[in-house]
Amino acid sequence: MVFSQRTVTCGGLTKADDGKRVVLNGWVHRERNHGAIFFINLRDRYGITQVVVADDADKELSDTASKLKMEYCISVTGTVRLRPEGMINLEMSTGEIEVKAEKIEILSTCATLPFMIEDENKAREDLRLKYRFLDLRCSGMQKRIALRHYFVKAIRDFLSARDFYEIETPTMIRSTPEGARDFLVPSRLYPGKFYALPQSPQLMKQLLMCSGFDKYFQIARCYRDEDARGDRQLEFTQLDLEMSFVQRDDVLALMEQLFCHVFKQILDYDLPVHFRRIAYKDAMNQYGCDKPDLRFEVEMKDFDALAAKSTFGAFHEALASGKGAVRALVAPKTEGVEFTRKYIQELESAAKIYGAHGLAWMKVADGKLNGGVSKYFEGMDDEVISSLGAGEGDMICIVAHPQWKKCCTSLGAVRSKLGKDLKLIRPSFEFCWIIDFPLFSYNEDKGHWEAEHHMFSMPQDRFIPTLESDPGSVLGDLYDLVLNGYEVASGSIRIHDVELQRKIFRICNFSDEEAEEKFGFLLNAFRFGPPPHGGIAPGVDRLVMIISQQESIHEVIAFPKNTFGVDPMDGSPETVDQKQLDELHLIINYPKKEEKQS
Ligand code: ASP
Repeated sequence: MVFSQRTVTCGGLTKADDGKRVVLNGWVHRERNHGAIFFINLRDRYGITQVVVADDADKELSDTASKLKMEYCISVTGTVRLRPEGMINLEMSTGEIEVKAEKIEILSTCATLPFMIEDENKAREDLRLKYRFLDLRCSGMQKRIALRHYFVKAIRDFLSARDFYEIETPTMIRSTPEGARDFLVPSRLYPGKFYALPQSPQLMKQLLMCSGFDKYFQIARCYRDEDARGDRQLEFTQLDLEMSFVQRDDVLALMEQLFCHVFKQILDYDLPVHFRRIAYKDAMNQYGCDKPDLRFEVEMKDFDALAAKSTFGAFHEALASGKGAVRALVAPKTEGVEFTRKYIQELESAAKIYGAHGLAWMKVADGKLNGGVSKYFEGMDDEVISSLGAGEGDMICIVAHPQWKKCCTSLGAVRSKLGKDLKLIRPSFEFCWIIDFPLFSYNEDKGHWEAEHHMFSMPQDRFIPTLESDPGSVLGDLYDLVLNGYEVASGSIRIHDVELQRKIFRICNFSDEEAEEKFGFLLNAFRFGPPPHGGIAPGVDRLVMIISQQESIHEVIAFPKNTFGVDPMDGSPETVDQKQLDELHLIINYPKKEEKQS
């Protein structure tokens, strides 16, 4: 197709270009017809330029202009001129000029739009995803996709300058349990055999360390066949990274430098040189979760001793077994918020989701405890108020539970709700490290221990002698990076010793034979001089989501699946031809429900 190709973009012209003859290519964002004069806002990725078809236009030009509709793709040839006084729009980068059109070519027309192309598309999500190619034209999406590009580029630049190699690892590998369910790819050439899509390049990056590439990274796609939930994606992107001859603090320091660089580069935001480190247990005790939002101050306090001194039976029961806990926090008096019974019930419902039987509360009025459970603290007013640092008009919230973790997470949910409802959250980026995680957790359903992170993480040295006798108390050389209440990375120092690795497999219920069958290639590599190594994997989608102040990762992925794991645009997942199934030697065994439908 022959057409006038652009000489400038729609975002670049300023008053310095006055008088210049230019060609613009783009989309009709808005058009206004004022009788004999047409105004066209022409848009491309770079911005919007106002085009004018003036009243001296010839017939061909004004005929073409009158045909234009929103989202027609056009080419405009014309001359830049200054906008008349009063028409200047300083909010637009091109707001001081306009282009007086001499020729307009319609490059393509546009069908009836399913929604308007605006800054932020307010259409329902399935419609947005069905017409994602249009949704992506909205400037909000354009900005976020650009931000994602610069984010990844800043990472690449930083790591390349520090001797890291970017190495691709395969997308089709052996199915190796890593915690989630694998996506499988049937092999045509080897009937009955399957490749798996990697849940992460975990083992490959460890093997690269065994190969001597001591600093590796990859912007890696990971695949996990999990039930659709929230804004989880079946495929997501992480910065996968591994280093040899390092210890935990080397990995943490590198990440701190990396994020300082990236945030400065793309947001001009100064992060602290070091991020706070919080032990898992302290995070649970103080914030009620292992991904605390540090943008607000409310902290939970150990209330065991005061609860034991009170006369409230429920507190005593919770503490009786020795495994329970009572934790308290202070909800600060806040303008415009009443701690009414209804609101307290809302807080209690939040706590109950995590297993609390109830939420105990009392208020501070005239320097005394008042209402709720205050009657059980007779004579203890000053002690309670001062130990919690509560002030006049504040409300004390208490959760007691015979299981420490449930007590903490329940009150943690109250903390999170208060943060939002009382508008305590500062607009900032608060990173922290969570360290000293337990290495194993006991899976009651399966009746055995499982790795908290994955099975390749190193136990802390001091627990190695009691690894098998007391797995529950083993802490790992594991670390999570948390930002504004989201887990944005996790990693560990890895095991590089065959015997220790076998021991961990055994604790996680893999017999030596099974371990050999599934992970033989890793164990084999560990026989040939593996270096000590460790790494981490920050989630790209989540980080870009937080940086761009969005609530869903869908907003920062060009073509995401919806919440049900479906792509409303291409319709995947979809059935395939019988011929394709035959070639793969597959017979579909439909679940009962579907059999009835067909
Ligand atoms: N492979 C791990 C994950 O995806 C991260 C790591 O340990 O580096 O969670």
